[in-house]
Amino acid sequence: MTKEILCGKTVYDIHEMLRIHGYGVSHATQVANNLYKKRIPDIPLFRNIPGKLLRLLSSIADTGFSPPSRSEVSGDKTVKYLFTGEGGKQFETVYIPDKKRNTVCVSTQSGCRMGCPFCLTGRYGYHGDLSPGEIINQILSIPEAGRINRVVFMGMGEPMDNLGNVLKACRIITSEWGMALSPRDVTVSTVGITTGIIEFLEESDCNLTLSLYSPFAAERSRIIPAERKYPAREIIEILKHFPAGKKRRFSIAYVMIKDVSDTDSHLEELKKLLNGSDIRVNLLPYHTFSGDSANPSSEERMLHFRHSLVLSGISASIRRSRGADIGAACGLLASGLGREIN
Ligand code: SF4
Repeated sequence: MTKEILCGKTVYDIHEMLRIHGYGVSHATQVANNLYKKRIPDIPLFRNIPGKLLRLLSSIADTGFSPPSRSEVSGDKTVKYLFTGEGGKQFETVYIPDKKRNTVCVSTQSGCRMGCPFCLTGRYGYHGDLSPGEIINQILSIPEAGRINRVVFMGMGEPMDNLGNVLKACRIITSEWGMALSPRDVTVSTVGITTGIIEFLEESDCNLTLSLYSPFAAERSRIIPAERKYPAREIIEILKHFPAGKKRRFSIAYVMIKDVSDTDSHLEELKKLLNGSDIRVNLLPYHTFSGDSANPSSEERMLHFRHSLVLSGISASIRRSRGADIGAACGLLASGLGREIN
């Protein structure tokens, strides 16, 4: 008999599974607590569960926890993990420790089909969507699981291209019966698929980051093909007018490439685009890879951008680069995978 995999199920899914055996929501909640709060990898070790239910669960289900097969540690203590999912598809996860925040950056797909030419994940190609269980397992099965207090969906893949599974994972991360993280501590990053973004905004309270790369549509569409169908300008208008509430944060990720995205005209257009909004800007250093002729902007230029945005009333910060030496930084995931990258 094939066993049911618990990791990735909501408390309602678990209840549905147990209901026919006479168990109620409170039993399903106890099972979810063992999975998502206590992170117990083997069902026979679950605590506070009636013996009869434990025996039943052990016979029909498995937690589905699956540890990473490889890890690499950066000089700045960032750790990159390699996971292998169903059908042998591979994906990477990054753990980023910091003074106050310990962040895990999860993948939502093996590879990606958005085809952004600057991104190694895009060049790796698309090898499949990750299930809610495969997304959640990346948080629960790394050695640092107990220290994580922030989750970002910024790993391999475009979350809006696997939205149903991403929304389910967000529910498990933020629900009281799940990991119980605040939606303020969960950020989903996208290159912008308008239909998906609207659904995400309606269905979730988590933060949203839009990767911009250029405020000019023609230029952006060369870097992010999705721009042709889903213009960033329209997405920013949606974010400007969406009632975000006090707790939810919308932001723009802006990669600073020397003489490509860091000129004065880029800065002025960026200010125009965000004028009158609460959307904040995260300025990111560009990471070069072999065969790449682009260069990162200087620190001085990044400081100038930040200063000028802040003076215009736009909240802006510079994000420090983490894990670049092990290919764990933005746009570099998949650089270490076994398959050939074109
Ligand atoms: S930048 Fe994001 S959306 Fe574009 S190819 Fe890379 S992972 Fe996919």
